[in-house]
Amino acid sequence: MLKFVGTPQNFPEVKAPELRKEDFEEIYKQFSNAQAAEQASRCSQCGIPFCQIHCPLQNNIPDWLKLTAEGRLEEAYAISSATNNFPEICGRICPQDRLCEGNCVIEKDFGSVTIGSVEKYITETAFANDWVKPISVKSESGFSVGIIGAGPAGLAAADMLRRKGHEVHIYDRYDRSGGLLIYGIPNFKLEKEIVLRRHKLLEAGGIKFHMGVDIGGKVSLDELQSKHDAVLIATGVYKSRALGIPDSDLENILPALTYLTASNRKGLGDKVADFDSGKLNAEGKAVMVVGGGDTAMDCVRTAVRQGAKSVTCLYRRDKANMPGSAREVKNAEEEGVNFMWLSAPKAFVGTKKVEQIIVQRMRLSAHDAAGRQDIQPVPGENFNISADMVIEALGFDAEDLPAMFGKPELQVRKNGTLNINVANFMTSLDGVFAAGDIVRGASLVVWAIRDGRDAAAAINNYIMSQAKMRNVA
Ligand code: FAD
Ligand code: SF4
Ligand code: SF4
Repeated sequence: MLKFVGTPQNFPEVKAPELRKEDFEEIYKQFSNAQAAEQASRCSQCGIPFCQIHCPLQNNIPDWLKLTAEGRLEEAYAISSATNNFPEICGRICPQDRLCEGNCVIEKDFGSVTIGSVEKYITETAFANDWVKPISVKSESGFSVGIIGAGPAGLAAADMLRRKGHEVHIYDRYDRSGGLLIYGIPNFKLEKEIVLRRHKLLEAGGIKFHMGVDIGGKVSLDELQSKHDAVLIATGVYKSRALGIPDSDLENILPALTYLTASNRKGLGDKVADFDSGKLNAEGKAVMVVGGGDTAMDCVRTAVRQGAKSVTCLYRRDKANMPGSAREVKNAEEEGVNFMWLSAPKAFVGTKKVEQIIVQRMRLSAHDAAGRQDIQPVPGENFNISADMVIEALGFDAEDLPAMFGKPELQVRKNGTLNINVANFMTSLDGVFAAGDIVRGASLVVWAIRDGRDAAAAINNYIMSQAKMRNVA
């Protein structure tokens, strides 16, 4: 260990930008055994590991790095999977530069340990060696839990609850499990076989999936409550924010998720009529993506791969103030995306379809006492740019869950996310819990996993205490 002084930081090989455009394959390759051992040995085994503190799952990073450096990979996998249900996914798509790696103590002078790539390597090695086994329940508890939503929060909770011997039923309105892992995040960041592989494993462990079931539609929340000893709501946030500027209703102005879902479905081999008709396909078009977060970066990079004539990202702040991962912005730049910083759409122009955008030039104000900068329009500085397709990537809000579930007593916050008791993850309805983006607002996969794990522990306590009370009575 402690080899960081003589061994430089290295990431796995990355595909050349001109080759990336040709397909939707993941752009990062995997470490070889020797590279993983070498990179893991750069860790200085800190007494207070800041990497671990800043990992939402508090992964025991120094231990699995040491084991990897020593070639003890089965043990490394056992430790890494003890705190993370889907390490192969986090290793690929966590914004490590803001979490574990961004807080590694050797980051400043030597470049962080490449933690995410090692986590991916350990887990892929475990899969290749058949060390990853489906859940094997020793004795069934006789209790059952219903989970609404098969995204990372719902799946992580299901995994933990099944391990406790409970019967677990997941209901999802989509036809495949994974939530945004399958239909939001593009294949070039997370190949869909990785998600499908996890699904198969969970199913083999006895978790029952009910796909194409919209809770609040044909099946009510009441029905679920009567069938199960507890219910978990893990429905994510899906209401796209819109610009709401003049002529926003012109054709070819699309919400980001509609566009990305169509692209992911095509990649999975589905028939997507609006893609085949050209409506949701950027091929040959001048594409404008509005927004500066990770979803915007996914849209611009998808458009590049679909063969767009040009791809431009409009963002109202500057590069330094972009909310998305710096790594994703760099990837987009390398792939030929144009960025227009300090630019905000003011109105769309067109007869039936969008043809132009009127853009307002913006500027940043001086820092306030808290160090924040506001943005202001620069008076009189407008310009027009041509566009055949506009994608709005402005974030997501929660749907109206009390209305959707016919439960006005289900308490929500101002932004529609569910209000839970933070001590036990329970909503205002007895025995109904919630986790993931529907509680936190649009967040990260690793936080959804963390919440799913914590909610599962709370649900288990609830079920067991209810059972005890019944026995006493
Ligand atoms: P979701 O993943 O949204 O899953 C919710 C599930 O609930 C869905 O399957 C949905 O169909 C189902 N559902 C909803 N309502 C109902 C209902 N009434 N009945 C039945 N089922 C229902 N995070 C990262 O860490 N790294 C990234 O690189 C990253 N990239 C992203 C890219 C995009 C385009 C987007 C949109 C998000 C990205 N995120 C990323 C964020 C991450 O995907 C989410 O934070 C995470 O998926 C939230 O998990 P969840 O389980 O709470 O919800
Ligand atoms: Fe880093 Fe994410 Fe893995 Fe935690 S789960 S160690 S934040 S890559
Ligand atoms: Fe190793 Fe960096 Fe974590 Fe320290 S902070 S234990 S050097 S990975």
